[in-house]
Amino acid sequence: MYGELLKDWHPYKDRSRQFLDINDIELILFIMKSGYVTIVGKPNVGKSTLMNHLLGDTVSIVTPKPQTTRNRVLGILTEKEYQIVFLGTPGIFKPRTELDKAMASAIELSLRDADIIYYMVDNKEKNIDDKLVRSTNVPLFLLINKIDKIERRGLLPLIESLSTRYKCFKEIIPISALKGDGLEDLLKTTLSYLPEGSFYYPEDYVSNLPERFFVAEIMREKIYLHYGEEIPYSTNVIVEEMKDKYIRVKIIVEKKSQKGIIIGKRGEKIKGVATEARKSIEEFLGRHIYLDVWVKVLKNWRKRKEVIRRFGYFG
Ligand code: GDP
Ligand code: MG
Repeated sequence: MYGELLKDWHPYKDRSRQFLDINDIELILFIMKSGYVTIVGKPNVGKSTLMNHLLGDTVSIVTPKPQTTRNRVLGILTEKEYQIVFLGTPGIFKPRTELDKAMASAIELSLRDADIIYYMVDNKEKNIDDKLVRSTNVPLFLLINKIDKIERRGLLPLIESLSTRYKCFKEIIPISALKGDGLEDLLKTTLSYLPEGSFYYPEDYVSNLPERFFVAEIMREKIYLHYGEEIPYSTNVIVEEMKDKYIRVKIIVEKKSQKGIIIGKRGEKIKGVATEARKSIEEFLGRHIYLDVWVKVLKNWRKRKEVIRRFGYFG
């Protein structure tokens, strides 16, 4: 009797029956993984560069000046079998102004949400301030960035000395966020720690932040690139209106003298910066726009809690 039945199942006799139903197979093969990865580290170690490289898109802005990332930035990497949601954080530093405090609490929030934490240092860092992360029970990876700038020979001793001194790290991974070295290894290791579970966001999401946010970030990036001294740190950018082709942004500064510097003689300076911003925004949005730029003085805005809140920083 069984012989009769089994005959029908012989794999070579009837190929269409050698496997389970196609839907069952998908269930077996694709155990999905998804989770949150928070990236922390001092200003300028390369957090934004890493996010951008992993996501293949300019999600977080990158400039040579520290503390460009004020808010936590969400980037989402979705592949067939996994989804990693990256929380970027402002760099670790001692809070002074209200804006600083808001940034510090953004870091705490991101740490609380994490399934994995990347603690990023650059190749020069010999002492790690592990206070912030020591008490966490989330898997902690130490990423040593900018290895393209050191000799291969120096790398192993560095890893060894860090791993003996700091026991809180589950993994130590050398990378170059800029060149892409070690990123494959980083992703593979991340996946091995990522919890099983279905996706948090639709597959075509790159970020849960609205287009407006990135428009403001691009404008802010241009300000960081084109103005010196305290100007970048004293400005904020608000997107006041965004309708089809028309985008109006307001650059907020702390003092009248800063407004003059931003605008420049006969408006030449701001015109150049705005043109460059428009091009980058068009590239990001994939469409032509008209960019209207205004500059406004809001006295000491960085020290005013209500203003910081209104601007949407955590605090
Ligand atoms: P963040 O403040 O931690 O977000 O740092 P950024 O991502 O903005 O990077 C700060 C600076 O370091 C920028 O000038 C980057 O181009 C540079 N940088 C980042 N990663 C690397 C790297 O792997 N190698 C080198 N040589 N430079 C890097
Ligand atoms: Mg950054």
